[in-house]
Amino acid sequence: MQINNLVKECAAELNIDLCRITDNGELKRERKILEKRSKDKYWPQPFANQDIAELTNPAFHFPNLKSIIVAAISYNKNGTNPFLSNYVTIEDYHVYLENKLEKLAARLQKKLNKSFNYKIFVDEAPFLEKALARKAGIGFIGKNTLLINPELGSNLFLGEIFTDLEMTKDQPLADDCGDCRLCIDNCQVDALKSEYLLAAEECTAYLTQKKGILSETEIKKIGHHIWGCDDCKDVCPYNKKADKLTASELMIFDKGIKYFLNLERKELPEELANTAITWRGSRILIRNAMLVAANLKELEYFNLIKEKLNDNSPVIRYYAALSLLEIDFKEAKYIIEKHLAQENNKEYKNKIKNILAAKEEDHGY
Ligand code: SF4
Ligand code: SF4
Repeated sequence: MQINNLVKECAAELNIDLCRITDNGELKRERKILEKRSKDKYWPQPFANQDIAELTNPAFHFPNLKSIIVAAISYNKNGTNPFLSNYVTIEDYHVYLENKLEKLAARLQKKLNKSFNYKIFVDEAPFLEKALARKAGIGFIGKNTLLINPELGSNLFLGEIFTDLEMTKDQPLADDCGDCRLCIDNCQVDALKSEYLLAAEECTAYLTQKKGILSETEIKKIGHHIWGCDDCKDVCPYNKKADKLTASELMIFDKGIKYFLNLERKELPEELANTAITWRGSRILIRNAMLVAANLKELEYFNLIKEKLNDNSPVIRYYAALSLLEIDFKEAKYIIEKHLAQENNKEYKNKIKNILAAKEEDHGY
């Protein structure tokens, strides 16, 4: 049996949904796209490595690289949580997939009766993971810039094994969005500027992870999203027909506004610490929960947010003031004025004063 087929057979035995192989070559198509993009106004991409050579040359990341095994596991559970992106409504997949790939490499060495060098990556290396998966034939890139497998859709966890083992490579799939534009037409914040062009800094998924003081426009763009945004995924016909949650042993994490408002920052509950949602810290989650309550004008959380005026973080106190004013201006005005008399952080005291003044103007005071 060819090694390529053996890899796929072992992957299937390990309950890995998709497994394809590609070579060590440069990602030429993506290099051209990034070089063009580096001159447009939507560059650079937040949170991403900006070195185009590193991003598009897998061989930079493993000595004597010959082949790359790309694996994907579906987590499509047709998300029903309105506040959280599908991928964080289950336990962090990184360790899970890494273990699967370790087992795959070990099984392969045993069946081939020879050892080879390898390195496993799961969402952590400075190369274009989606592009490698495209080149290997896991899926095609949709107009929403996501990787789509025709059967399993785009809710896929990806991982790779870089190895010095020679294998025949698989072929990419043809792009297959056809005339569809549903993702572009359904992006509420207009972050998909055209087909295949995402203005990442305007995307809600990015804004829910952005630290610092958000502008009023950015706060509105967060809408009802405490973490991530799946709007352009959920409308995609390829996701509508896929309903597979392969990683069913991963614990479900399905929480809402109240849960995040009640977080004790110093002692995160175990189920939260085990998700991929905490990498930007817990403060941002509490901030987002307050902003979502404010955007939805959720009166029932007013008192919980009021308690946040006593938080030891001035950033939390600032967003609490802002959210209270948004939910119930009349009630909040008096509370904030009282709070200002005791606010001890000069910088944030001024910021709170400014938002109070702006809201007073909006309400004709
Ligand atoms: S994730 Fe949300 S905000 Fe970002 S492009 Fe998709 S629909 Fe638009
Ligand atoms: S919604 Fe339509 S255009 Fe967008 S990625 Fe899916 S198939 Fe392609």
